[in-house]
Amino acid sequence: MDLTLREHLDAHGLAAKKSFGQHFLLDLNVTRKIVRFAGPFEGRPVIEVGPGPGGLTRALLESDAGKVVLVEKDPRFIPLLNELDDGAGRLTVVEADALNVREDQLVEGPAHLVSNLPYNVGTPLLIKWLTGPWTPASLTLMFQKEVAERVVARPGDDAYGRLAVISQAVAEAKLVMHLPAAAFTPPPKVASAVVHLVPREDRPDRELLKALERVTAAAFGQRRKMLRSSLKQLGGAELCEKAGISPEDRAEVIDLDGFLRLARAFAGIEQPTAPTDGGAVLMRRKKT
Ligand code: SAM
Repeated sequence: MDLTLREHLDAHGLAAKKSFGQHFLLDLNVTRKIVRFAGPFEGRPVIEVGPGPGGLTRALLESDAGKVVLVEKDPRFIPLLNELDDGAGRLTVVEADALNVREDQLVEGPAHLVSNLPYNVGTPLLIKWLTGPWTPASLTLMFQKEVAERVVARPGDDAYGRLAVISQAVAEAKLVMHLPAAAFTPPPKVASAVVHLVPREDRPDRELLKALERVTAAAFGQRRKMLRSSLKQLGGAELCEKAGISPEDRAEVIDLDGFLRLARAFAGIEQPTAPTDGGAVLMRRKKT
């Protein structure tokens, strides 16, 4: 299969373009493994972003995905991807920039997302899928290793920051697979890792998420400072006290529940009486 994909690329005269972040997975054993981490799909649709020559697409078409919808920005790959269609009506190829597409217009009902992401737009795409109006049933995404570590980091880890707090507030996030640079054609400069995220039932609503974004931006913008200084513009020590957080702590030691408390205090949302699993809790509006 490796040869087939390579031959396919050669037959279409396709070389990887740096500007599109193109590093291809041509080994179907690897792409099948990624799809196993992503599934089972149980007949639900899967959106694959950045299919390129279609190594992951082939594995998705072998899976129990009901439909496979591809979103590829590089027009050179569209004819080659259309060749993967076996006429059963499961495959849709869309030429578009994934940053601008409306996923709810591509699929009906809950759908899974799978992508070997272009590294240059990986983080903005993740933020779009976690905080935008459309929520996937799950996300299985290849990032450069450092970004994957930032998504799953815990308080006290060097990689702990805004991306960890926002990702974990919205979803359960697990790093499921490491891949060396040599697994890709051409090899990138960095190693990669796959993260599997499942949005939480009790994820914050838009208002709380906005507040969480404000609080984490300020707190991690000055991560070495005590919260009473880094959060000064948002209420400083008083805000910390309302949230039950020590104003002398630094952002890097505050866990998800702590940040949610700070965000609620900032937005004037009543704190829950007892945290639920992982700290993302159901909210009630404060009665005035
Ligand atoms: N999935 C393929 C694989 O594993 O071999 C290719 C992965 S390659 C790292 C990233 C792919 O994303 C490329 O095909 C590139 O053209 C495409 N791409 C880059 N930016 C994109 C964007 N904004 N929207 C959609 N696709 C994009």
